[in-house]
Amino acid sequence: MKNLNLPKKVFIKEVGPRDGFQIEKKFVPTENKIEVIDMLSACGFADIQYTAFVHPKAIPNMADAAEVSAKIKRPAGVEFTALIPNQKGYERACGLGLKRVELTMSATDSHNLSNLNCTSLESIARLEECLKLGLETQLCAGLAVVFGCPFEGRPPYERIRMLVDRIVGLGIKDLGLADTSGVGDPKQVYDICARLVDAYPSVTFYVHVHNTHGAAVANILAAMQAGITHFDSSVAGLGGCPYAPGASGNVATEDIVQIFEYMGIETGIDIDRLIAAAKRVEEIVGHSDSATLKAGKMGHLVEGGPICQNNRQ
Ligand code: ZN
Repeated sequence: MKNLNLPKKVFIKEVGPRDGFQIEKKFVPTENKIEVIDMLSACGFADIQYTAFVHPKAIPNMADAAEVSAKIKRPAGVEFTALIPNQKGYERACGLGLKRVELTMSATDSHNLSNLNCTSLESIARLEECLKLGLETQLCAGLAVVFGCPFEGRPPYERIRMLVDRIVGLGIKDLGLADTSGVGDPKQVYDICARLVDAYPSVTFYVHVHNTHGAAVANILAAMQAGITHFDSSVAGLGGCPYAPGASGNVATEDIVQIFEYMGIETGIDIDRLIAAAKRVEEIVGHSDSATLKAGKMGHLVEGGPICQNNRQ
């Protein structure tokens, strides 16, 4: 019998405060952002992507990035990271003392042009310019729409490989692979991840999936079979992309934490604190996309079968 290829431990980067709040139509008050980030930083995450340093006209909800940075609690063991689109964002993040940022770009030119007003290769040139500055803040990269683009469909593997090759060639060791629109399927996710993991054994790939068509958890398991152990997810299943029409939220962090723990995979996350944070997020923004918030915490197996403890009582 063949066993599932399961790691002992996974690393979850919480991206809700960035990917989630960025898409909200109403401005999320700064004090609410800080409250949620503080709740999340007590959950056990090693990395919280808490904001983006982008032009406030492009993403109005991230206009308070500096104030949020100044006011959040910074418990030991939690790294607070951010998304940036370009050199200006990089310099702002460095000025605020961030240790690490993710420069975002897309696997297709159409998405890159609508999101960042330049081609994918021009974004890689921006990354190179940032690296040349020699600043202390470490640069990672994130590739959006790897598993499907709302404008171009699924990019060919050769295109993904060419972009990854150029990014890795610049010395980048951490690279996000995002299903920004949530249109990937498990076989495709497995195939792309397996080929990349084989080709770049020293690179840490983060898989970032949205749940537009309900395939997010299956895609995560498929990525895991390919050797991926690093995942992005979002509290309360918030998220979206302003330039990916119709995309829905990220996979909910509390959903995958529960599933991982039941599978015997360590996450290091306190599920009760995380569910409390998810409920607070739902109160603040008025919606969520989380099986855990709907169905409650998974019950423990006892005599007679599983008992659900409904958190909504
Ligand atoms: Zn996303």
